[in-house]
Amino acid sequence: IFISIALHCNRTAMAQNGTIENGLARNACPPPLPQPIFINNEWHTSIKGKKFPTINPATGVKICDVEEADKADVDEAVKAAKAAGQRGSEWRRMDASSRGRLLHRLADLLERERAVLATLESMDTGKPFLHAFFVDLDGSIKTLRYYAGWTDKIHGKTMPVDENFVCFTKHEPIGVCGAIIPWNFPLLMFTWKIAPALACGNTVVIKPAEQTPLTALHVGALVKEAGFPPGVVNIVPGFGPTAGAAIASHMNIDKVAFTGSTEVGQLIKAAAAKSNLKRVTLELGGKNPCIVFADSDLQLAVEETQKGSFFNQGQACTAASRVYVEEPVYDEFVRLSVERAKNIAIGDPMEPRTSHGPQIDQHQFDKILELVDSGKKEGATLECGGCAVKDRGLFIHPTIFSDVKDHMRIAKEEIFGPVQCIMKFKTQKEVIDRANSSQYGLTAAVFTRDVHCAMSVSAALEAGTVWKLILLFSKDIKLKSDSKKHSCFQH
Ligand code: ADP
Repeated sequence: IFISIALHCNRTAMAQNGTIENGLARNACPPPLPQPIFINNEWHTSIKGKKFPTINPATGVKICDVEEADKADVDEAVKAAKAAGQRGSEWRRMDASSRGRLLHRLADLLERERAVLATLESMDTGKPFLHAFFVDLDGSIKTLRYYAGWTDKIHGKTMPVDENFVCFTKHEPIGVCGAIIPWNFPLLMFTWKIAPALACGNTVVIKPAEQTPLTALHVGALVKEAGFPPGVVNIVPGFGPTAGAAIASHMNIDKVAFTGSTEVGQLIKAAAAKSNLKRVTLELGGKNPCIVFADSDLQLAVEETQKGSFFNQGQACTAASRVYVEEPVYDEFVRLSVERAKNIAIGDPMEPRTSHGPQIDQHQFDKILELVDSGKKEGATLECGGCAVKDRGLFIHPTIFSDVKDHMRIAKEEIFGPVQCIMKFKTQKEVIDRANSSQYGLTAAVFTRDVHCAMSVSAALEAGTVWKLILLFSKDIKLKSDSKKHSCFQH
């Protein structure tokens, strides 16, 4: 049985059945031709004639080659995007509600190809197929539908002003939006970037991460099939310092949205400032505190913090990487966490029982193990894991450190791997101060049965999103998140 992702000419003849069984039944069969660049609803080879391989991190085997976009290809994509968005174009004249219908149609096509996309995502990232099928695909489809609903609800204000004037605001598209995305949630990030931009009538030039270009390119075919006019969405697979830098510094790109490392975020902001002062949206790293009070349902807290730490092999900017546990329950929390971590099913991502796959590449793998080493050297107690899975390439055992101190590197630096650091605290004030003493501020979480404690502690935490897990009645769980900071590219 083949995954028929191959040629651009028969892309739309792909498997139509979006069931899980269909996805699991497909073998990881390499697509035969290099995956092309998508500009103006057409497939292109790279102008410089370069290609790069994309590798399955679970096996180390090349999946296929991909045409490598560089500055000249980005220029072509920007030309197409600018033409598609100019006044009088089909896209600019389109009713807002019709833009919404196109986004819904794209969501329908993702549903149709759910199994193929989940398979591609699992092969390209190494994440378990079922996680890709349920989490990544669900989230991507819902994102498209959510923004489809916004298209005809974006309106301005009227303001009373002195004297004889009528004053109102009208929202216009920004123009060409550049997007640069990472490899941890490739399809989800793709939809997070394109959906809000398209809902507002912009056009897009998007670069997937060099490790994971396949789902974005597959969706390129679906964008065309859905009926988006040529040039509205352009996909330029390539590397950061070439294609990515060309987007960040392009004079005809009006906005750039980036998700990735803090270091590259700084480069992008600088490039935007030096070129045309384009608008910038950045979603960067995190070192997210998770606070467990002694009155919590301990078993539940162990499960949820561990999902937070190990989901996607810990490769998430929102990973729960600093877990602060109140002194009376600390020892029991560590014991239960270790017991649970040792039972995590590591293995072939295409197997339904697998919940833990490989890290994305050698660079990340080495970085994680170097940080694990630093934890041991600095005196944290390694409770479990801390090493690679024998004979399995890029797989790392889920790792737990206890007795972690705030000054240690594992407590301060973003690890982006399956490493949970558990720390002890005594008072509410102490834990709030320690949770906030970080250069990051992405997410945080609070576990308690006390609503007052949940509300006051989360209000004091300096993070964009605070998760509160409050057990109000036995087994009646209320999970709520407060988003304090918003941007049009973030939920
Ligand atoms: P990670 O370290 O997790 O791989 P990066 O921030 O390096 O994250 O990569 C995220 C995205 O940024 C990828 O698409 C990558 O190609 C891109 N990128 C990397 N370096 C640059 C750069 N100098 N300019 C623009 N984009 C870049």
